[in-house]
Parts: sequence; structure tokens; C-alpha cells
Amino acid sequence: TQLDKEWLQEYVDDWVSFYRKHTKEGKLASYIPILGKANPHHLGMAIHGKNGMIIRSGDVDTPFTIQSISKVISFIVACMERGVGYVLDRVDVEPTGEAFNSIMHLEMKSLNKPFNPFVNAGALTITSMLEGDTATQKLEPIYMLFEKMLGYRPSLNQEVYQSEYESSARNRAIGYYLIETGFLEEDLEITLETYFKQCSIEVTVDDLAKIGLLLACDGEDPNTGEEIIPRQIARITKALMLTCGMYDASGKFATYVGIPAKSGVSGGIVAVAPPRVRNQQFPFIEGCGIGVFGPALEDRGNSIAGIRLLKHIASQWDLSIF
Ligand code: GLN
Repeated sequence: TQLDKEWLQEYVDDWVSFYRKHTKEGKLASYIPILGKANPHHLGMAIHGKNGMIIRSGDVDTPFTIQSISKVISFIVACMERGVGYVLDRVDVEPTGEAFNSIMHLEMKSLNKPFNPFVNAGALTITSMLEGDTATQKLEPIYMLFEKMLGYRPSLNQEVYQSEYESSARNRAIGYYLIETGFLEEDLEITLETYFKQCSIEVTVDDLAKIGLLLACDGEDPNTGEEIIPRQIARITKALMLTCGMYDASGKFATYVGIPAKSGVSGGIVAVAPPRVRNQQFPFIEGCGIGVFGPALEDRGNSIAGIRLLKHIASQWDLSIF
């Protein structure tokens, strides 16, 4: 009802202003120089419920680049183009416990394929699998999926792309290693161009909440019932988000928050709260998607205030899937 919504809105506004204080403890991701120019005190959140309820609070209108959250989308597109078997034959589904751009873990003896689609080695391998001979061709199905999920075609932030391209030594190092070990299926330049461009797509917290909601609905459009992502792929994606989505803090996030989520170094987090049958008194029982943006990061690379805000909300509303 309207009253419930007003009450929830006030609650969420209070939490957002409370956790905004925590942004002071974080740092911007400056290894991509342009990301170091964001406003570290920004914090915004959007929650889109399957029941149609939408709660938005804080800096919700500031667009940001999707960064590592794009790894979720490229994984889904690769699975839709090539089939799940093909993709998982080439990239594993195990968390690394290392930083997302770790080079050290690539040389581990046990490695016979990149650990998972959400570390850079796995994401570059996934991007190289996308169909097409040029970055433009490979990106088109990614844009098309975005268009279906968001209702509009997002745009590329050229400045961020340029900045990433110019500070790409580490991703190149990972790329050369993948060539040597036979995982890259094509020219490294095409993979890198596609990867940096997919990371530079601009979104808002509402966009992330819509993506989260679609995954909460197992890939079915909550309004039309149309299958946008095949159910099996949506499920695997959520399992990967839960185990590998928050970098080397994924175990803690699963323990203390307990819902699938994926973060990016620009400060975005997409979280998925699937429908539940218990605890009827809590809001968003039918499931919801949550988008958060807070560019000040903790030392693993996740939005510091964003994580705390999600932890608070998940415990207040009993969102944990466990
Ligand atoms: N484009 C960034 C990189 O590859 C994305 C990393 C991230 O968001 N964790 O370094």
C-alpha cells in the first residue's frame, strides 16, 4: 500500500544517509585514472520488487561505468551463443580467494583453465569466445541483452574506455599468459578492446536493480513473462555471483549478507534477492533486484558503504537465501 511504501522509503533514506558516513573510510579505484575523479561521498540505492514496488534513495541519478559487473553479462551472452557446456569446458566455476586481477594464481599447478568467469583471466577468456570478428560485432549481442533488460540501449563512456586502454598493462599481462596457455581464441587486441568497452558501458542504480530483478525471476521478464535469459543460465550465473561475485570477499558476503551479488571497481553492486516462501511480514517477499553505487571502495575493491548498506538491509528484511 501507499503507506507501506512511504514507511519503507523513509527507512531506506535513513539507512542511506547513515551509511554515507562510511564512504570516508574507503578509497576510489585510481588504477584506472579517470575512476579516481569520482565523488567519493556518493551513495545511492535502487530496489525494484517483483511486486512492482520501487524504492530509490541517495545519489540515484549519477551514471557510472559498469566495470566488472559486465562480466555477468558477457558470461550470459557467451552461454547463450555457445552453450553452457562449451563455456564451462574452458572456464571453471571455482573462487580463487585472490584479487580479481591476480597474476600469481594463473600459474598454480592445479590450474587447467581460468578459475571463474568473474576474475579477469576468466572474463577475458569469455570475451574472446563471443561471436564476431571485431569488437563492434562481439559487443552487439551484449548491447541487445542490455536493451531487453533495461528497456533502452546504454551508451559507452568513451573517456573511461580511453583511460582503461591507456592503463592496461596488467590486463595485457594476463592476456599474454592466456595466449601462451592456449585459452585466448583470437587476437588479444580484439579481446582487450571488447573487454574494456564492455566495462565502460554506463548504467545507473535503477539499471542494476532491473538486472538483479530479472535474475531473481530466473531470467523471465517480471512484467511480460518473456524468457530473456534461459533459466539454467540464470541459475548458474547466480551461483557464480554468490561464490565469486564480490572478489576475494565473496565468502564474507555470502556469510553476512547471503544473496548473489556482483561488484565493480567504479563502486556499483548488483544484488539479487530471489522470492522466498517464509517470513511473510518482510517487504519484497516476492523477490527484488538491488542496485547500489558508492565509489569509495574497501581494500578488496567493493563499495565500502554499499556492502554495509546491503548487509544491513539483508538482515533487517531477512533476505539471505540460506
Ligand atoms: N575494467 C576493470 C579491470 O579490468 C574492471 C575491474 C573490476 O571492476 N573489478 O581492471
